[in-house]
Amino acid sequence: MEAPLDRSTIWPYEDGEPGPFYYARAGHPNGVAAERALGELEGGEAVLFASGTAATTAVALALLEPGKTIALADDAYYGTGVTLAELGRWGLRHVLFDQTAPPPEAADLVWIESPSNPLLTVPDFEAAAAHSSPVICDATASTPIHLRALERGCDLVVHSATKYLAGHHDALLGVVVCRRAEDAERLRAFRNATGAVAGPDAAWLLLRGLRTLEVRVLRQTETAQALAERLGSHPAVTNVRYPGFGGLLSFDVAGGDAARRVETGTELIANATSLGGVSSTIETRFRWEGTRVPPGLLRLSVGLEPLEELWTDLRRVLARA
Ligand SMILES: *Cc1c(COP(=O)(O)O)cnc(C)c1O
Repeated sequence: MEAPLDRSTIWPYEDGEPGPFYYARAGHPNGVAAERALGELEGGEAVLFASGTAATTAVALALLEPGKTIALADDAYYGTGVTLAELGRWGLRHVLFDQTAPPPEAADLVWIESPSNPLLTVPDFEAAAAHSSPVICDATASTPIHLRALERGCDLVVHSATKYLAGHHDALLGVVVCRRAEDAERLRAFRNATGAVAGPDAAWLLLRGLRTLEVRVLRQTETAQALAERLGSHPAVTNVRYPGFGGLLSFDVAGGDAARRVETGTELIANATSLGGVSSTIETRFRWEGTRVPPGLLRLSVGLEPLEELWTDLRRVLARA
């Protein structure tokens, strides 16, 4: 059974001294329970944040300092570049690199993503791990079911737990899982000092979601594999990107107008952003990312609907793309 939801922000001192929980910003039972479960899944020490973006910000600000440089995979999640650009005002630099090749020497942190969202490239883990600086992997789209990045030589793993880990499009969360206990300690201190704490309701929903993570992700993978194959031989589809695992794929149609007809025409698949939920979502990414992606690119996050119903929905809109 799930531990009961505890929304307390305070817990009485014990004999005049703070116990394990005393003020919710410093720590709360549902958050700690979720961190324990995530730590086991990734094989490290987990620190929970209010969103994936808050987790990214915490890593950059807590583990680096002004003048340091992050080497960021050039096709990493669009928002990661936005966050790092924002932090540039405070003297943190970032450079882009091709994550299928070795990272640039002059970097104080290497930031890879597996597979990248939405171009679905997989990093060269060996080349990243051979770098002299720490390596962080955004494993949001893999989940720990398909990737344990700490075992592939990474020092830190970050997830938008909003996506597959919580899994139901109803909780906003992020997590950093650390190989070294001192990094987790530093991130917890930074989180308490800056306040980007995940609330107990979201942490409870995350734990609930983790109970079905494996069955969800395996089923989503099976359906996504079949859809990637069928899309690959559809005449209206010019390109399919699928790494062979996971529930996320992207494909291209003739151009922006055709892509818009597809995303606005599906009935079962919601035209919405985000990914990793039990219900499928589709969107063009050009609207957010501009020329980083082809205008005809559609990102599809495969949910738990039956394969044939999803294919019927896609085939119907592709016929008029
Ligand atoms: C959504 C996402 C993020 C950002 O997470 P939020 O929870 O939305 O802040 C980071 N990385 C990847 C790969 C994502 O898909």
